[in-house]
Amino acid sequence: MKFTVLGAGAMGYRYGVLLQEAGNQVDFVDTWEKNVEKVREQGGVLVARDHQDQHLVPVNVYYPEEYQGHPDVWVVFTKQMQLADFLKRTAHCFDEKQYVLTCMNGMGHVEKLLEYFKPAKLIAGTALVATVLNGPGDVDFIGARGAGTMNLANYTEKPDEMTHKVVTELEKAQFNPNLTTNFMGTLLAKVVFNSVVNTLCTLFEITMGEFASYPGADELSKQLINEAYDVCERAGIQMLNTRQAELESVNYVSTVANPLHYPSMYQDMSHNRPTEVDYINGYLVELGRKYRYEATTHAFLTHLVHLAEHTRQAPKEAVSE
Ligand code: NAD
Repeated sequence: MKFTVLGAGAMGYRYGVLLQEAGNQVDFVDTWEKNVEKVREQGGVLVARDHQDQHLVPVNVYYPEEYQGHPDVWVVFTKQMQLADFLKRTAHCFDEKQYVLTCMNGMGHVEKLLEYFKPAKLIAGTALVATVLNGPGDVDFIGARGAGTMNLANYTEKPDEMTHKVVTELEKAQFNPNLTTNFMGTLLAKVVFNSVVNTLCTLFEITMGEFASYPGADELSKQLINEAYDVCERAGIQMLNTRQAELESVNYVSTVANPLHYPSMYQDMSHNRPTEVDYINGYLVELGRKYRYEATTHAFLTHLVHLAEHTRQAPKEAVSE
């Protein structure tokens, strides 16, 4: 099968490299000049796993404007705020037969993808795996091969033959895909998880394990989960998990699965890049307002993350003695 990854960052490289190694033809399209130039200069992307065994994987990378490929499936892994620009710049390669698969965090991408692809061609989900981009053309896949999982669903909630073929390729690449028929419930499960763990760990610059070790962690998590579920219930979204199961999932991932991991939002903050908080906690706030429900804790946290971004980016005045 022919895949083109749109957004050759941490997750784009992970999906693209592993799909390529599973025997597919894969191209990468990216807009970050330093990244594209580095990959061309070194003849591929440097890939490590858990900081070990770094090696060069040859890949083809293109700027959107020069790309002429017509894949069967686009694999989209930009940050939410980058997506509109990527789509506009790559639109000359889109056609009606192509499918699009994405496991981006947050919400906001679905509407943008539907501007270019038919609902029947859209498959979206969540990736329960951590990947770090050390720098241009240099990526670290966190976790043992085959340890991560992912959930995905058709926008139409009706899996077709092509969806099953995509799932087969994802299985071969050891992404452990779980195909559901609940589109919004699948996506929102991760939004709620991220609205707790990513946001709080980022604000306090702590690992998931450090968060979970705080005796009041459950109380913080419950307040955010309850508000998020209040919003989703008003919006008629059938959640995959109960509130209690969502809390247990936060605890399991933070204490057992990834205690040493800093969430990807923290990585953005620490590199002084904008975070996706508007598409996570901010999305829940906006969705709640459509149903006259004020998700006040999520609104407050969204502000706190923006305050932290603002503080890191503001020039510091020299202190005179
Ligand atoms: P990323 O930031 O590594 O890459 C996304 C894009 O940003 C790429 O085009 C990349 O080239 C560009 N980029 C990266 N660093 C840059 C810099 N310093 N300056 C300019 N451009 C830069 O993003 P990602 O972590 O792959 O995330 C993609 C999507 O997947 C997001 O929605 C994210 O929340 C989600 N996600 C990430 C992880 C993870 O562990 N990284 C896990 C699950 C989901």
